[in-house]
Amino acid sequence: MYGIFGRSLSDILREQGFTHPPEVSRELRGWEYNRHPVRPPVRGVLLPVSSVASDYCPTARDLYLARVVGISRPPSLPLVKGVLYHGVLEAVITLATNLLSRDPALVGKIPARGSEAIRRVLSEHEGLLRRAGLGARDVEGLRLNMLGLWNFEAERIAEAVRGLRGIPREKLAFRAVPVASERRIDGSRVGLSERLSVDAFRVGLPAVFEMKTGKPRESHRLALAGYALAYESARREPVDFGILAYVDFPVVGEAPKVTRVACPIDDGLRARFLEERDRKLEIVSERQDPGVPERCPKGCGFWRVCRRERRGRF
Ligand code: SF4
Repeated sequence: MYGIFGRSLSDILREQGFTHPPEVSRELRGWEYNRHPVRPPVRGVLLPVSSVASDYCPTARDLYLARVVGISRPPSLPLVKGVLYHGVLEAVITLATNLLSRDPALVGKIPARGSEAIRRVLSEHEGLLRRAGLGARDVEGLRLNMLGLWNFEAERIAEAVRGLRGIPREKLAFRAVPVASERRIDGSRVGLSERLSVDAFRVGLPAVFEMKTGKPRESHRLALAGYALAYESARREPVDFGILAYVDFPVVGEAPKVTRVACPIDDGLRARFLEERDRKLEIVSERQDPGVPERCPKGCGFWRVCRRERRGRF
């Protein structure tokens, strides 16, 4: 079975010592959206999971500036990479599912379709690349990595198909590619965006997963809790685990190094996500400026905007 970059969910959980799902209190399940603490404190304001989970700006002034003042900042390189690599993953999974449902032998055609699919993903995100101010060389590096990711995925899917000989054709795509990329979930019942893109397993235990670039951060785990709560609120199915897949390209254009981290979506993580959601919903609905923190991360795109406030303070 293909799973996450060639590993099934059950293998990842077993390897990382998770033999049982975490205990989750009933009141912290997403389908309890009409009761505290899952019920959003305000209605009519919805936030993306990434904004709730983000710990980039310690006071969340970035959210205030974007949502209340209406100032945008250029997209960061990690954000651009995440969007593009995610586009590759979605394209390869969609293509593999289509080909496999027609004829398993067609799986061999996936690598040759990579360049065309990547061109499409890049052109869909032309505006994002422009706003990020990336030059032709940067974009070429990204394109090569996207190709590396495509070929890596194509090989993992081909391996899964080889291991599933004898499975009826109508079940093959479902078994060989048991991940639904970009499932649209309405998160509005829990104060999140109406069209959340959630990557979820579609067989076995319901679980969500996120592909990430860069170093692990607590905000990545928090985001999984947000997706799980949204999924539970929309589908009324429990989501007990999330998987973070960190993708890195030690050599440009070659196979990525993938590190998978299993994360139980337990009470603690759910409660922390809900606290952050409430705090950030309040900033937006009350139009409250949370102020500048003692320290700001280097290179924040809002640095010039916040500089005046900082001068006033110190
Ligand atoms: S400059 Fe500092 S206060 Fe302003 S948004 Fe960035 S991190 Fe937050």
